[in-house]
Amino acid sequence: MAAVINSEEGIIARIKRPAELSGNPKGYLNSIIEIVNDLIDKTKLKKKNIKAICIGIPGALNPHTGIVSLAPNLGLKKFNIKEKLQKKNSIPVLIENDVNLGALGAYKFGKAKNSKNMLAVFIGTGIGGGIIIDGKMYRGTNYSAGEIGHVIVDKKGPVCGCGNKGCFETFASRSAIVKNIMSDLKAKKKSILKKLILPNKPVKSRMLAAAVKSNDNLVIKHIANASDTIGLVLANSANLMNFDMIVLGGGLIEALDYFMLPKIIESFKKYALKDASKNIKIIANDLGDDVALYGGIALAEEFLKIKI
Ligand SMILES: [Zn+2]
Repeated sequence: MAAVINSEEGIIARIKRPAELSGNPKGYLNSIIEIVNDLIDKTKLKKKNIKAICIGIPGALNPHTGIVSLAPNLGLKKFNIKEKLQKKNSIPVLIENDVNLGALGAYKFGKAKNSKNMLAVFIGTGIGGGIIIDGKMYRGTNYSAGEIGHVIVDKKGPVCGCGNKGCFETFASRSAIVKNIMSDLKAKKKSILKKLILPNKPVKSRMLAAAVKSNDNLVIKHIANASDTIGLVLANSANLMNFDMIVLGGGLIEALDYFMLPKIIESFKKYALKDASKNIKIIANDLGDDVALYGGIALAEEFLKIKI
């Protein structure tokens, strides 16, 4: 997902197209360059009017050196993507972890605009987080801050992709919720979802939302359980960091915020210290998937010290 964007006009042009992911970094790089060029062509802007190319990468990386230490879904390991892309064009290239970009977008352009200390949590296949402290992105010693999906909530819980047991995302990611629902369906428990799911097709957030709307007890039970765990982890985070705002994003939250947010807040209040829960707002991301695109503006402004 790519866009030409600035802070005054918002999105000027966009392209959504799969990048080449054969495990060969060359193919991936070429598809990025192609998307960038097509996008600029679409706007009829001159290249010199494009101030930065910002790339959100699902993986561990250092935005200063440009080295992606590991991005399993892109097949990148110890790879200096910034340097490689910079050689292919004159526009400054910046990279950032995709979830951090989302947090930056929510912080600068979403409902969290007026916050100072913010946590953004995106719930999808996994769970990722981004932290803003005193108005700045907090990246941590090795740029790994915000990995809230791997906060352990039960030492004896399910095995996580990271190798540990009982990580937050093994309980409350969309994939974890769907996995739990499917195992109940296999055990012949009743649910309207049986009619909505197509064979060999993924269960979409909107199907879960439709099931909740029609008072489906099974789906409601699993989403309520996940919401309780989300509230618990947010309370732990707030106890540690005393945020003034928590933004929750991802398809499931955005489709079911009316149902999930009250449950998350109820659980949060149960577990958070008084001072940590005073003056904190827990809200849903209002920019949808575009939130990371907006984060690109914030990243360019931070690294290039210019107004975009
Ligand atoms: Zn984990």
